[in-house]
Amino acid sequence: MTLTGSKPATEGLLPLSDVQREIVRTAREFAANELAPHVAERDRKGEFSREPIDALGRLGFLGMLIPEEWGGNGLDTVTYLLALEEIARVDPALAVSMSVHNSLPTQLILAHGSKDLKERYLRPMAEGRMLGAFALSEAHAGSDPAALSCSAVRRGDAWVLNGAKAWVTNGGTADVVLAMARTGGSGSRGVSAFVVEPAWEGYAVGKEEKKMGLRSSNTTEIVFRDLEVPVANLLGEEGKGLAYALGALEHGRLGIAAQALGIASACLDLAVSWARDRQAFGQPIADFQGIRFLLVDLAAQIEAARALTYAAAAKKDRGEHARKEVAMAKLLASRAAMDAGVKAIQVYGGYGYMKDYPVERYFRDAKVTEIYEGTSEIQRLVIASELLDG
Ligand SMILES: Cc1cc2nc3c(=O)[nH]c(=O)nc-3n(C[C@H](O)[C@H](O)[C@H](O)COP(=O)(O)OP(=O)(O)OC[C@H]3O[C@@H](n4cnc5c(N)ncnc54)[C@H](O)[C@@H]3O)c2cc1C
Repeated sequence: MTLTGSKPATEGLLPLSDVQREIVRTAREFAANELAPHVAERDRKGEFSREPIDALGRLGFLGMLIPEEWGGNGLDTVTYLLALEEIARVDPALAVSMSVHNSLPTQLILAHGSKDLKERYLRPMAEGRMLGAFALSEAHAGSDPAALSCSAVRRGDAWVLNGAKAWVTNGGTADVVLAMARTGGSGSRGVSAFVVEPAWEGYAVGKEEKKMGLRSSNTTEIVFRDLEVPVANLLGEEGKGLAYALGALEHGRLGIAAQALGIASACLDLAVSWARDRQAFGQPIADFQGIRFLLVDLAAQIEAARALTYAAAAKKDRGEHARKEVAMAKLLASRAAMDAGVKAIQVYGGYGYMKDYPVERYFRDAKVTEIYEGTSEIQRLVIASELLDG
């Protein structure tokens, strides 16, 4: 069964503009024609390819949130998420590259970069000529990034970086890396953000991770050994790096929510189709109330998560404070993806457990949406602080 024949997941729920409809159509056609034929094999081989990312760039999908004056499309977050959800529906591993690039390094340079940094990096990134990565986590500092220890020491006209970053998406293929390092004392105020080029001496790609899911996504350690970063490549003000990074993570979390929705709706479509076709006791399993209710509950859960995600994005697009809604969207959408993976396998029965069918891949891909860009526990902490401590 292919996913290409069904209607866009968002159709009917959101009143889409003509531009949004066209972008959804472009994303769906690209996913169906260019991604779907290869996605299972790339997962099986754990094979990363830069080509689909470059193709996203040619479609304008790497500069969606960047104003036209800097080479982007100047679109809003809602429209960006519509495209991202369609890509994730077919290829969740590619979707995380698209999400990181659009949500984190480009947003950080747009918000805090000098004109020079925007000219040198933002424009080529928005035009799809440079791919970005975001290096915050370290082996001992994930949920608690204020504990990071990678150091940056000023020496003349450069900052000299030393240390290692963990689990960097696009880490082995990026052309630009937004790296957070400690320039001052302990805690969050001692962290600054730097725009780093992997081609510079002192930058090395470390271990390439072998993962449970998103197996065709590139996730690596990166290592800085006396890496000299020109002072012009300090992003914004010294000591504000972590605040900048946490601010950008709001866009990042919406991106992961859209990725999760793509995974969830793919699982639902596959499960519905299987339930109609598969016979047991002389009738389609879709006729059994146990299966019907399972699918109904899942459909309702996904629509609720989708409504919240796009409402949070719209709130952000209006320039309103949306920290709580963004965290709720990520929490619920990632839960929906995980539940959809489990339930789709259940509906498929034994076939669902087999590598010949796509649901076990979606199930493996779904799990990480509850982990990166803030685990579900961290989203709950964010919601609690907005709800109780504001
Ligand atoms: C595939 C993949 C790609 C990634 N890409 C990137 C990337 O591009 N850039 C980047 O910087 N990072 C990236 N990460 C790292 C990711 O953001 C971290 O893994 C994540 O933030 C969790 O950190 P941790 O793994 O250190 O878990 P820990 O912080 O060690 O947490 C372990 C467990 O403890 C829980 N926990 C921690 N603190 C609390 C608390 N206060 N209350 C309750 N529970 C708590 C967590 O929720 C979790 O369940 C990636 C990770 C993966 C798996």
